[in-house]
Amino acid sequence: MASSDTIAAIATALSDSGIGIIRISGEKAIEISDSVFCNKYGKKILKNVQSHTIHYGYIFNPFDFPDMDDYRKKIVDEVMVSVFRAPKSYTTEDTVEINCHGGILMTQKILKLVLRAGARLAEPGEFTKRAFLNGRIDLSEAEAVMDIIHSKNELSLKASVSQLRGDLADKIRILREDIIYEIAFIESALDDPEHISLDGYPDRLREKLKNIIQSISSLLETSENGRIMKEGISTVIVGKPNAGKSSLLNMILGQERAIVTDIAGTTRDVLEESVRLRDIHLNIIDTAGIRDTDDIVEKIGVDRARKYAKDADLVLYVVDTSVEIDENDKEIMSLIGDKKVILLFNKSDLEQKVSEEDFIESLNHCKKETGENLNFCGIGSLAVIHTSAKENEGLEELEQKIRELFFHGEIKSENEIMITNIRHKQALQDAMDALKLVSKSIEEGMPEDFYSIDLMSAYSSLGLIIGEEVEDDLVEEIFSKFCMGK
Ligand code: GDP
Repeated sequence: MASSDTIAAIATALSDSGIGIIRISGEKAIEISDSVFCNKYGKKILKNVQSHTIHYGYIFNPFDFPDMDDYRKKIVDEVMVSVFRAPKSYTTEDTVEINCHGGILMTQKILKLVLRAGARLAEPGEFTKRAFLNGRIDLSEAEAVMDIIHSKNELSLKASVSQLRGDLADKIRILREDIIYEIAFIESALDDPEHISLDGYPDRLREKLKNIIQSISSLLETSENGRIMKEGISTVIVGKPNAGKSSLLNMILGQERAIVTDIAGTTRDVLEESVRLRDIHLNIIDTAGIRDTDDIVEKIGVDRARKYAKDADLVLYVVDTSVEIDENDKEIMSLIGDKKVILLFNKSDLEQKVSEEDFIESLNHCKKETGENLNFCGIGSLAVIHTSAKENEGLEELEQKIRELFFHGEIKSENEIMITNIRHKQALQDAMDALKLVSKSIEEGMPEDFYSIDLMSAYSSLGLIIGEEVEDDLVEEIFSKFCMGK
């Protein structure tokens, strides 16, 4: 499916940077570059240079001054030009990269010349799309390229690099080979029953399926952590007004961001902040204090707080330990139900009017009253940390608790394949469902040709991950999310 036209785009960010790169790929990449580039003696040289070489010279404007003989007067910039000949390039096509001086004006000027010389402006992601369509990388690897660019933390970066290296693709290929072997076996046995017997085959297949389903299920188990690693843990801070939510948020952020006052109800709207506690990435929403209120503006904030708490991965419930638990706390308890909750017993520097026992008692009370499942999915018991925003205490314990709650105490990513992409997760889930149908057919004693249909469906679903059997419009959609020049 090789493309015939030659594309070009600026591959670096449009900003005042030291260097800008214009990338050109396609059959005419070298010819087009030659028409706007010359070496320091004014000679066109690119046609004859070897692949993977870099050349010093000038970009000049051959269009606007046809009568001017002195090429020096047509010079636009002093550049280095790299040449990669097919098939050993990012796209597998002839590719040229012009390293010019950075800055929006210069890079655009050179891009315009390249377009005038015959290239077409690339669509977002089109270079990587060509790498995929030309068979150099599979779809999961192409998606990894985009994930690397968008990585916001070290862990998701590692997971994306592993995916780019083909770790996920290798694993998927092995699973698919296992499945296609069984399909082929069944088909051959049905075609040639005299020589290939299906006696005892369902039992063998049952065992095989167990292993494949187990592998897929292990991959799926990584997807929750994968998502959290990629996007961060969506975290909501709740607590009644004045508990110290804004102060704790500032402590976590390490800077004065939210407005802190001692008038109850001042954090009117919802603030969202992104923060990294070592390798844990939190997207924190600080909500308005939750309490019954007649103030309209504050009420909107409270309703939002409810909504955010419902959708969050993690709730940080700030309890003001300097005042006794009241109805407002019970309201909050009923709101956060069985979420992953870490209780921040704040104001530990003041006289303590609330102990963990008091809290548990109120919680049990609340459970009875509401009949709700208020398990506060902690680690065995409640996850409580004593904090003092005033004394800046409790941050390390918080980080450790989050680690325990989400990553069983440690964050693995070195050797583990992580599913970070929702599309991959869906395909794995579909494959698993199909394989379970095969198991069901075995249990129900269905004829063997029934197995092949669902095995084939699992095989196709897994194929979607690496980009086999994908529809064109899905390919379009995936690459349209890429940035320009990639
Ligand atoms: P919010 O309404 O829950 O966001 O509470 P704020 O963060 O605005 O804090 C309310 C008041 O409690 C402010 O006067 C803070 O300085 C004070 N405060 C917050 N955390 C602590 C703490 O750990 N110790 C003490 N002594 N005061 C605190």
